[in-house]
Amino acid sequence: PHLVRALHRGYRTATPQNFSDYDSIKRDFKLEVPEYFNFARDVLDKWTDMEKAGKRPSNPAFWWINGEGKEVRWSFEELGVLSRKLANILTEVCALQRGDRVIIILPQIPEWWLANIACLRTGTVSIPGTTQLTQKDILYRLQSSKAKCIITNDAVAPAVDTIASECENLHSKLIVSPNPRDGWAHLTGLMRHASDSHTCVRTKHDETMSIFFTSGTSGSPKMTGHTHSSYGLGLSVNGRYWLDLTPSDVMWNTSDTGWAKTAWSSVFSPWTQGACVFVRHLPQFKPTSILQTLSRFPITVFCSAPTAYRMLVKNDMASYKFKSLQHCVSAGEPVNFEVIEQWRSRTGLDIYEGYGQTETVLICGTFKGMKIKPGSMGKPSPAFDVKILDKNGNVLPPGQEGDIGLRALPNRPLGLFTHYIDNPRKTASTLRGDYYITGDRGYVDEDGYFWFVSRADDIISSSGYRIGPFEVESALNEHPAVAESAVVSSPDPIRGEVVKAFIVLNPNYKSHDEDQLKKDIQEHVKKTTAPYKYPRKVEFVQELPKTISEKIKRNELKKKEWEKI
Ligand code: ATP
Ligand code: MG
Repeated sequence: PHLVRALHRGYRTATPQNFSDYDSIKRDFKLEVPEYFNFARDVLDKWTDMEKAGKRPSNPAFWWINGEGKEVRWSFEELGVLSRKLANILTEVCALQRGDRVIIILPQIPEWWLANIACLRTGTVSIPGTTQLTQKDILYRLQSSKAKCIITNDAVAPAVDTIASECENLHSKLIVSPNPRDGWAHLTGLMRHASDSHTCVRTKHDETMSIFFTSGTSGSPKMTGHTHSSYGLGLSVNGRYWLDLTPSDVMWNTSDTGWAKTAWSSVFSPWTQGACVFVRHLPQFKPTSILQTLSRFPITVFCSAPTAYRMLVKNDMASYKFKSLQHCVSAGEPVNFEVIEQWRSRTGLDIYEGYGQTETVLICGTFKGMKIKPGSMGKPSPAFDVKILDKNGNVLPPGQEGDIGLRALPNRPLGLFTHYIDNPRKTASTLRGDYYITGDRGYVDEDGYFWFVSRADDIISSSGYRIGPFEVESALNEHPAVAESAVVSSPDPIRGEVVKAFIVLNPNYKSHDEDQLKKDIQEHVKKTTAPYKYPRKVEFVQELPKTISEKIKRNELKKKEWEKI
């Protein structure tokens, strides 16, 4: 409680941090973890008190639109009332107890937020999943997580009914739909009569709060366990330092409810700061809808994936004005320099990059007030000790490429996951000496800025050179014919491995002579980056394989290349 009071004092006086003095912020940074911590009780309900005492601007806590005229605006108090009702439904109707696991597969609808808060209040462990999961995916998730309850909608319920008999732990199903369904508890009906009086459980700070599946960019998604304090307190660092949020801000993050990124930027980071969580339900990514929303609503902080920014700048943005927008951030993949430039020329705003994983909170970020080095991920979060390491766990000096790691021993830092569920071997494999190894490669420069090179698995070694795909892709993407590209290793009888580029062409180049275009593009890369990196092999494709969260699955392309021999 002492800590939370301190945090709230901080929020009230929250002035944007000036990161021009990064070193002193890092030195003075301290986030103590209380023995008991529950985000609903210690943060959300505190904001309700502040709201009632007139100490928070009259900004909704939650603002949702569906683009077809439906709109929901809730204060912290309303969020409290509704989530307490749902908490009572979870314990009474669904018979869930503290520690039981609950899979939530819902699109970006308000009930998703209520369900997550209800899990916090009851101490049940939430496991978010995207609505794009197939029947097979859902079966895998229900079985591997041993979830006792599933909360979903009409679109997903039939798939659940088909496989439910194979999931021995699943004993309750809650449907979010205008209509009841046989064998399912009906949320809308139950909410009408549920009591809004509920006492939030006193969770220990290190009790498991949620299990997040990773994106599955380089293999099967991993189940990542986070405690109540890990995201609940740890993400205050994102909210305060990277997103630069205060209670008068309106924050919109576009990611799908199925990913940890939504917990990051549409739940914990904004609400630790008392900011408004803005949501536009977008069943499909439509650049014009995003641009319209950004120009029509008083959104001050915007977060999206690099792929989304890439698609947005391809649109004619001149007809939109972004009057309220102040701060834009991106995470999940590297952002190409070109996109940063184009975004700035159209909005007058920079894209502040953030780097992190499902397993962590923000690891590195470009913070407001700090000099931006485009293409760099910025500096380490004040909460983490981030280093570049060699294969023996020695810390490497600036300029040398190695594995990105963060100190995890003797004290595991707040914001680092506890373990991969039921996978002690995988968990143990992430430790090297005193460091947690992210699985990403990078280097740090003389000024302490970190630069992402690639995922460790994506590095290409050709004729003694080590090549990261991102640099080559960035060079390729600058060519006018290239819409998107993915660069992977491909077998070669002489060199062992060579660089191969898969390229999606811009529509107006699709009828060009492919051989000529290929040579042209290769020449362009040789000129733009060190010549040894140019793709010796080029294949034009209609589209690139991506995860549901829109990340390029290079390892799938690479696997096909190597299977050919
Ligand atoms: P999986 O672990 O299942 O293969 P994933 O690693 O894509 O999937 P996430 O946890 O969603 O799952 O993504 C984290 C990864 O995304 C990081 O390890 C890194 O490779 C990449 N990433 C995140 N932010 C950035 C960034 N700013 N620049 C470069 N890469 C980034
Ligand atoms: Mg990963």
